[in-house]
Amino acid sequence: MSNVILKDVHKQYEKTNVLSGINMTIEDGEFITLLGPSGCGKSTILRILTGLTDATSGKVMIDGKDMKDVAPKNRQVGMVFQSYALFPNMSVYENVAFGLKMNKIKPNEVAKRVEEMLHLVGLAEKKEAYPHELSGGQQQRVALARSLVVRPKVLLLDEPLSALDAQIRKHLQVELRTIQRELQMTMILVTHDQEEAMSVSDRIFVMNKGKIAQEGTPSDIYTKP
Ligand code: ADP
Ligand code: ADP
Repeated sequence: MSNVILKDVHKQYEKTNVLSGINMTIEDGEFITLLGPSGCGKSTILRILTGLTDATSGKVMIDGKDMKDVAPKNRQVGMVFQSYALFPNMSVYENVAFGLKMNKIKPNEVAKRVEEMLHLVGLAEKKEAYPHELSGGQQQRVALARSLVVRPKVLLLDEPLSALDAQIRKHLQVELRTIQRELQMTMILVTHDQEEAMSVSDRIFVMNKGKIAQEGTPSDIYTKP
């Protein structure tokens, strides 16, 4: 079954077309990148998937359900942003545990899942640390763990690495891909970095002015004229 489907999705703000007929079919466990210049509508697609905004027309399906029937809080769509937005007064452990506690998961299950997730992102040793004691890359790994630990059906990543310096960014790209494969989770990454798109994606959707200009595997995209 396809995990995420957008069918002829249009979005207008006032009278401006921001998305003009977006069609996407994303399989379970795919790593997808939306690549394109600033303002082409990438983040708008993510906001429509989370329910932060509605499409003007068209159909959005996740996991076989039409999103017009599913309230944003019930969508099980996770999101990681460029700014980590961690709780500054909570330890790494508490930051990652927070969403599980909100969902009334039993304490021993919370502890088990948080520990597992901290191992997966390589921060088991840092669980007692506070955000200000961590590097930017480590903070982004906490943000990733916090989003993943609630087991979303789809994880959306809005330029999560672009605030980091080049070397750490490269390292985290590889790590992100490894984690994605391990969890077999569907991920949709937004970026304007061509090299990043190339190195992490199963498939790339190249966007321009609210439309999909090209779609395919990294080698499809970069060997065709
Ligand atoms: P990207 O993520 O590719 O940079 P966005 O999806 O953020 O692009 O924005 C696409 C276009 O929609 C831009 O021209 C932006 O100015 C416009 N836009 C985004 N949000 C709003 C809004 N709330 N009201 C009006 N226009 C908006
Ligand atoms: P809570 O009451 O906060 O839900 P638990 O009492 O279920 O947490 O904790 C179970 C285990 O989880 C603890 O033995 C410990 O190993 C770990 N743990 C819980 N809270 C923290 C914390 N703030 N920092 C580090 N580890 C913690």
